[in-house]
Amino acid sequence: MTLENEINTEIARTRTNALYKSGITGLIGITMIMFYFVIFSWGDIGGNILIIWISAFLFMVFLRLALTYKYRKAISSANIKIEQIEKWEKYFYYSLLLTGALWGSIAFLPFNDNYLSNLLFVTIVMITLSGSSIALYSHSYRSMITYLFITLVPVSIMLLLVGEKKSVIVAIAIFTFLAMMVKITRGLNITLLDNIRLGIVNRNMSLRDPLTGLGNRRRLEIFVEKLIPISARKNNQFSVVLMDIDHFKKYNDENGHHAGDVLLCAVSEIITDEIRSSDLAIRFGGEEFLVLMPETEIEQAFAIAQRISAEIMETTDVTISGGVARHKPSENFEDTVRRADSALYLAKRNGRDLIEIASDSILD
Ligand code: GH3
Ligand code: MG
Ligand code: MG
Repeated sequence: MTLENEINTEIARTRTNALYKSGITGLIGITMIMFYFVIFSWGDIGGNILIIWISAFLFMVFLRLALTYKYRKAISSANIKIEQIEKWEKYFYYSLLLTGALWGSIAFLPFNDNYLSNLLFVTIVMITLSGSSIALYSHSYRSMITYLFITLVPVSIMLLLVGEKKSVIVAIAIFTFLAMMVKITRGLNITLLDNIRLGIVNRNMSLRDPLTGLGNRRRLEIFVEKLIPISARKNNQFSVVLMDIDHFKKYNDENGHHAGDVLLCAVSEIITDEIRSSDLAIRFGGEEFLVLMPETEIEQAFAIAQRISAEIMETTDVTISGGVARHKPSENFEDTVRRADSALYLAKRNGRDLIEIASDSILD
């Protein structure tokens, strides 16, 4: 996954998480408003219409709760793709659209008498709802805008149709409010999403080596912290490959420091291309790289290290030496790295351009 892709996925996830989280607060809020509305209008609306409306409303609440539950289950996967997150955001939007439409429909309910005073009460309900939607759904511009229009426009039209001086004034006031809110929500949404992006980009950068774009030691620490308990639980071990460019000092001396930097980037790219997306490659030191391979046996890790080595030899002017070790359940991560380092040292001593396996990795 490219850096930009990773950041966009993280942003989408943060935004959608916030929406579903606010959605729960929203559901509590609208259920309370629904009760106020029903108590207020009981007896004023003809036939079974209010009952039908309440049933539809409760069905929507249930639907949105079920959706939130399903979303939480789906999103818990660590490797969720941006398309899937966007799909869930769409579902949320549609469910909000339906609830909003249900609210909007109140303006058309047949109130028996005191039509204007009932309509004014409905207006209060709509302004409360639309105002809350800005606070709750600020992560999604289209959710805010849709909710604003769908709740405010029907009641304003009905107020205009009443045609009395007071009702027309209230309708105009609502339209003014709507226009202001449309303007404010855009800025609010942009600022919020910019802040989220900034936070995520900053965190991402703090875990990366600026030259090669690979992870750094902090990234490794976080990865390992999660990996150790998982691999212990699943009872499958991971492998570590430590690689070091041969005679890099000489390369720098002969070609200049800049060429050395370019080479480091080329080597990093080859490593990234050769490993799986579930593996983690980090720049461990100056010209030293570490690849962590979850659920990987030592033979497999060795084969990948050799593939990387062959590709580097073929496409660049240098060779690498490497040491491979398999993590043992009894040891801590530093010990595994130490064993990989000893194997790397052995590879250097045995003439370089070699991959060695830490001896005790094969024995367990
Ligand atoms: P060996 O085969 O034993 O690994 O020899 P070597 O020359 O690769 O190892 P040594 O540790 O003697 O030298 C490492 C060199 O890597 C020295 C240092 O200048 C260079 N180096 C470390 N970081 C960077 C960097 O970011 N850019 C460049 N261009 N060079 C770097
Ligand atoms: Mg070296
Ligand atoms: Mg070195």
